[in-house]
Amino acid sequence: MSKIYDVLIVGSGPAGYTAAIYTARADLKTAIIAGHESGGQLMLTSEVENFPGFSEGIMGPDLMSEMKKQALRFGTEFIHDQIEHVDLKGKVKQLKSAKHNYEAKTVIIATGSQAQWLNLPSEQRLMGRGISACATCDGYFFKDKEIVVVGGGDSAMEEALTLTKFGSHVTIVHRRDAFRASKIMQKRVLEHDKISVIWNAVVDEVLGESFVEGVKIRDVESDKTSEVPCQGLFIAIGHKPSTSFLGGQLELDDKAYVKAKDQVKTNLDGVFVAGDVADPHYRQAITAAGDGCRAALEAERYLIRLGE
Ligand code: NAP
Repeated sequence: MSKIYDVLIVGSGPAGYTAAIYTARADLKTAIIAGHESGGQLMLTSEVENFPGFSEGIMGPDLMSEMKKQALRFGTEFIHDQIEHVDLKGKVKQLKSAKHNYEAKTVIIATGSQAQWLNLPSEQRLMGRGISACATCDGYFFKDKEIVVVGGGDSAMEEALTLTKFGSHVTIVHRRDAFRASKIMQKRVLEHDKISVIWNAVVDEVLGESFVEGVKIRDVESDKTSEVPCQGLFIAIGHKPSTSFLGGQLELDDKAYVKAKDQVKTNLDGVFVAGDVADPHYRQAITAAGDGCRAALEAERYLIRLGE
C-alpha cells in the first residue's frame, strides 16, 4: 500500500522549496517531486542580485541549493520523478509518473514555466548546434565567437551580459524600438562596448548547414531582410507555464497559466498553486517564494479543517 502524504509539492523552484520548508516544519508529511530540471529556472541563472538577504548577490544554483538544504532539514522527502497524469478531484489526490503512483491529502502545484522558442523549422533543425536558451549553461562553448541574442526583456539583457564574458561580440535583435527590461539592466546593456542592438527586427531564419552560421533578420518597418553572421544564437523571449500534465483538471487562463483565487487557491479543494505556473506578471524568485509560503499555510489550514 502506498503512503499518503499530507502535502505533495510538484516542482522544485523557489515556490516548491519554500512551501516544503513551511509544511515540513509544521510537521506535515511532505514530499517534493522535483521534475527533470530540479531547482527550476534559477539553476540556469548566474547572479541573483535582488533576492533579499544577500547584499552581495548570490549565484542562482547556490540559492537553490540553500533552499533545498533548508527543506530537507525539516524532513522533506525529495523525489526525482516526473508527474505525467493527475486525478486531483477526490479527497485523496492521485499523481502518476511513468513508473510510480503517489497519493496525498493536499497538492501544491509549483511547476513553473519553460523557455519559449521562435518555432522556426531552421531553429528546430539546428537545436543544440549553436542554439540555446541558457547563457550560463552554454556560453562557454562560444568563446571568441559572434553571438546573437533575441528578446528585449530582463532575460535577454542578462543573457547578453553573461555572453560578453565569452563571445567576441553580442548583438541583440529585438522586435520593437524599446526594451521591456528593467532600467538598470537596459543601462548595463546599452553602455556595454561588446553589445550592439538591432531594433525593430525579427529573425526569419537560422542559417547554417550543420551548425549555426548566422541569422536572416527582417526589419519590421521596411520588410527588408539582411544577414547577421554568428556562431551562437540565444533565444530569450519569455516562458510558457508547465501545466500540460494537469489534463484540464485545474482551470487555466488563455495562456495556460493556472487561474488562482486568493493568490494560491485553485478550483479544486485541497489543491493549491504557487509561483510562475500561475503568475504571468511578476515571475520573480521572491514572489514565487511568497506564493510557496501562502500555499503551504493554506494547505495546513485545509488539513486542520479536514480534521487530519
Ligand atoms: P519577458 O519580460 O516576457 O520578455 C520577453 C521579451 O521577448 C520581450 O521583449 C518580447 O518582446 C520578446 N518576445 C516575445 N516573443 C517574441 C517572439 N516570438 N519573437 C521575438 N521577440 C519576442 O520575459 P523574460 O525576459 O524572460 O522575463 C520574465 C520575467 O522574469 C520578467 O518579469 C523579468 O523581469 C523577470 N526576470 C528578472 C531578472 C532579474 O531581475 N535579474 C532576470 C530575468 C528575468 P516585446 O517586448 O515586444 O513584447
